[in-house]
Amino acid sequence: MTLTRRGALQALGAAAAGAALATPAEARTPHRSAPDDLGLLYDATRCIGCRACVTSCREANGEPRDVTMMAGAPYDAPVDLNGHTLTVIKQWSDGTRDGFVKAQCMHCADPACASVCMMGALHKGPRGVVEYSVDRCVGCRNCQIACPFNVPKFQWTSAAPQIAKCELCRHRWAAGKGPACAEVCPRQAVIAGPRSELLAEAHRRLAATPQAYQGGVYGETEGGGTACLYLSPAGFGPLGLPPLGREPAPALVESVQHGIYQGFVAPVVLFGAFAVMAWKNRAAGQGEEP
Ligand code: SF4
Ligand code: SF4
Ligand code: SF4
Repeated sequence: MTLTRRGALQALGAAAAGAALATPAEARTPHRSAPDDLGLLYDATRCIGCRACVTSCREANGEPRDVTMMAGAPYDAPVDLNGHTLTVIKQWSDGTRDGFVKAQCMHCADPACASVCMMGALHKGPRGVVEYSVDRCVGCRNCQIACPFNVPKFQWTSAAPQIAKCELCRHRWAAGKGPACAEVCPRQAVIAGPRSELLAEAHRRLAATPQAYQGGVYGETEGGGTACLYLSPAGFGPLGLPPLGREPAPALVESVQHGIYQGFVAPVVLFGAFAVMAWKNRAAGQGEEP
């Protein structure tokens, strides 16, 4: 995207005009999970690192393999999420124990990615899924910066880049199918279902074998709650899950923004102006930043 100095000044002028028309902000109410929000429960005590979930995710979402040569042979073993890898299995260690951990979008009840996406390209959809609409995306990558789980990835190598992240296989629902990763797991280390049922199952496992687990259920309250929940044998720090409080990040960020901009008008106008310029630049064939 190429922004001209003149264009940027026009955008700032429009933002200032918008701010002048702003009305006082209302307090922001955090979004909460609904019992039938679709989610995943990942149990790190069961995972054997077979990566069947990663392969199944690729096939279900039409993503290419991410091949690395190891000892002269090609392996599809990405080390992290990327523009064509929507879920990944990583290794963890706390010095005495080690194991595997699955990463994908957490489907936050109050997602920071959607909060900073002024175009609404990332937004809450049916059953609490955090959806992505490419036709609204201007490629600003604010979502990448805002996500506390480092999930959204920009497709740098694509001719028509998008933001890539798990959408809980929502394109399969019409065919009566659910998340592909959960379908193939031979250990039921990842299962899918309504969040309320997953939470009940997580607590059932904790109560049945408390010595096998440490740290409760991650995602029950962290960051305001997530639809993807985790159980761990070693707490959640070694698994790379951030220590979030109970409040969702957008509640704080938007309160500050409301205070600064008196009703959110200025950033909306500013972003809108930049968005228009971005689309004009695209149409003119100037392309994306590398
Ligand atoms: S994990 Fe990140 S990308 Fe997924 S919903 Fe939460 S903030 Fe958005
Ligand atoms: S729910 Fe679908 S898109 Fe998300 S990680 Fe599982 S297979 Fe991949
Ligand atoms: S399919 Fe199940 S056991 Fe295999 S890596 Fe994925 S979560 Fe772990």
